[in-house]
Amino acid sequence: MLDSTPSMNVFSHPEFDNHEHLSFFCDSETGLKAIVAIHNTSRGPAMGGCRMFPYTTDEQALRDVLRLSRGMTYKSALANLDLGGGKSVIIGDPRKQKTEALMEAMGHHLEGLGGQYIAAEDSGTSVPDLKVMGRHTRHVAGIASRTGFDGNPSNGDPSPATAYGTFIGLKAAVKHKLGRDNLNGLKVAIQGIGNVGFRLAKHLKDAGAELWVYDIHDDNMQRAVDQLGAKPATAEDILFLPVDVVAPCAMGAVLNDDSILQLQATIVAGAANNLLEHPEHDAMLRDRGILYAPDFAINAGGIIDVFYERTGATPEKVRAHVDTIGDTLTEIFNRSDRSGRPTGEIANELAEERFKKHTACAGPAPERLACTG
Ligand code: NAD
Repeated sequence: MLDSTPSMNVFSHPEFDNHEHLSFFCDSETGLKAIVAIHNTSRGPAMGGCRMFPYTTDEQALRDVLRLSRGMTYKSALANLDLGGGKSVIIGDPRKQKTEALMEAMGHHLEGLGGQYIAAEDSGTSVPDLKVMGRHTRHVAGIASRTGFDGNPSNGDPSPATAYGTFIGLKAAVKHKLGRDNLNGLKVAIQGIGNVGFRLAKHLKDAGAELWVYDIHDDNMQRAVDQLGAKPATAEDILFLPVDVVAPCAMGAVLNDDSILQLQATIVAGAANNLLEHPEHDAMLRDRGILYAPDFAINAGGIIDVFYERTGATPEKVRAHVDTIGDTLTEIFNRSDRSGRPTGEIANELAEERFKKHTACAGPAPERLACTG
């Protein structure tokens, strides 16, 4: 008799994309159910966040981990880091099901992967959780107290480096689109004034920019108004103000059919992940004459910082590497202009050039296609 239980495809999953390694962990004592996805290790061990989320189906968890893991390969390769891409998900509600024992069990499992995957914090996990995992494995990152890239004490939080990298990327976009080096009087609207958004606002303020801000939490918005002289905006208008740059630093999918038509800014440069609702919105931005700084290029400061935590590099070296985000974006913008193709597509292509040349499947497109599926 045929089993009527819904099946979950793995190798033929639409998001599988030649992942090198998948591990499914189950620990009945602690209730741990986790998946680790390692997409590509051609440049080095796979690094990426460990997310805890109450997925309602195993399929949802698998889809999320595959997509996120692949994204890390592209982000690290584009940032020229000796890292591959990976991600892990723990299935469960972090507010109700997170225990020290569960985090310890995750640490044990990560140790069993022998360093092929290195976990960092992500939504649903925190630095203290990673430290608990770290009782059983060395393969966790973003937890060390040290002098940060900016000379200030750092506890492993990647946000300062992400904000600085976003600022550098935004400047590269302004130079390319508006032909100016100086941000004095530049009008910027920032959506989301959290860990990254507030620090980005501070960099921009110091450079003389005029700021508009909106956050769903009044106190976060008020802090930017009081401390940085930013002007408060509303949920409805923050993306559509007559400014030079819109910097989304809250959540993804804010660039969609509706919002793109209403944008008045000619540059989108923000730290939030997965800004495009669908890949085709990349071309829609270009068609409207809006320069889009691809999210995974501009927000790589954090992964650069976490990478160097493990190598013990000087703050100057970390900062110099974060500064290269501007060069990478300029290369993307120039290639986009020369080819007439959108910037997100070019960023993917550039990342692939940086990691596929090392892989068994590398080669001209037809050979790569033969390896797919
Ligand atoms: P955060 O949680 O500290 O800040 C996000 C802010 O956005 C919060 O203040 C929140 O109140 C606000 N917000 C949420 N929904 C909103 C909405 N609809 N409109 C306006 N504001 C809203 O997070 P963060 O660490 O600052 O990260 C911001 C974004 O950057 C996220 O998309 C994150 O994935 C991405 N990112 C962060 C890092 C990092 O190092 N922290 C690295 C890469 C990418």
